[in-house]
Amino acid sequence: MSVDRHTHWPYDEGEPGEFSYSREAHPTGVEAERRLGELEGGRALLFSSGMAAATSILLALLRPGDTVALAEGAYYGNEILMRELLGPWGLKTTLFEQTGAPPEEADLIWLEAPSNPFLTMPDLAAAAAHPAKVVVDSTVATPVYLNPLAEGADLVLHSATKYLTGHSDAMAGAVVAGDEADYDRLFHFRHIAGPVCAPDTAALVTRGLKTLRVRVERQTETARTLAGRLASHPAVSTVRYPGFGGLLSFDVADPLAVETATRLIKNATSLGGVDSTMESRHRWEGDRCPVGLLRLSVGLEDADELWADLQQALAERG
Ligand code: PLP
Repeated sequence: MSVDRHTHWPYDEGEPGEFSYSREAHPTGVEAERRLGELEGGRALLFSSGMAAATSILLALLRPGDTVALAEGAYYGNEILMRELLGPWGLKTTLFEQTGAPPEEADLIWLEAPSNPFLTMPDLAAAAAHPAKVVVDSTVATPVYLNPLAEGADLVLHSATKYLTGHSDAMAGAVVAGDEADYDRLFHFRHIAGPVCAPDTAALVTRGLKTLRVRVERQTETARTLAGRLASHPAVSTVRYPGFGGLLSFDVADPLAVETATRLIKNATSLGGVDSTMESRHRWEGDRCPVGLLRLSVGLEDADELWADLQQALAERG
């Protein structure tokens, strides 16, 4: 896999070609974007992180005074971004339950499929019927299980840090636009504001996309097995799993004891990698998250070995 790290390319007889300065675009990024665009059925742009992609959508497409209807229980960083960081800029945010219809007063609807860590799925048809543009953060579903643009969404967001790259060694974000005008505004915003994805990271997106399907199908198979077994474990009170994907959450009485007792499953944040990770989300999210909730991102380890690890952690300390 070749990585073109040039920051500039020579003009042709005084004329800038397709690539001139890498803050605007670079060949390694364009190749990854082409592949992701094909998978999602739209035009993709890479960013330096999922949050950089989210910030770019908000600043490029909205104006001060506009209102975002944000799905309750969506990735907690979004609410902090919208309220704490962009509130003073003039952004208004209202929360709503994404399994139902969005509020009438909204200039942008922000859904998450499925929400992290509550694993609810949005009512995409209800959102698509609203006149406002619809963004779907499809980080957890991945294009293997959902193509939001085909379901009426206008923009798809990915934290490519997770399943798209898949090996917990790259920080990147992506937006896929269904509409050419949205793509152009985001392209211009990224070029001028500069939240770009470096060529080496873009190459890791291309590498990750080549194995995306086999990874997430296997993670789904294992996650289904574990969700079923956890549901009948006496130390577990609630299991949240939408039936696909590698992410699930469940509640226990003493989450700290359980998360620190696993051996194979790493006690760490983030999700979507080949190694399983588990953590209490209350430590980050505070009151919006049940104290006992543990989020488990299922990797590619053997399902029975993962279950044995969970069982011993739950048996001793649940
Ligand atoms: N969206 C979801 C669903 C996430 O889980 C995350 C990070 O955990 C983000 C967006 C933010 O992405 P990043 O960490 O790549 O900035």
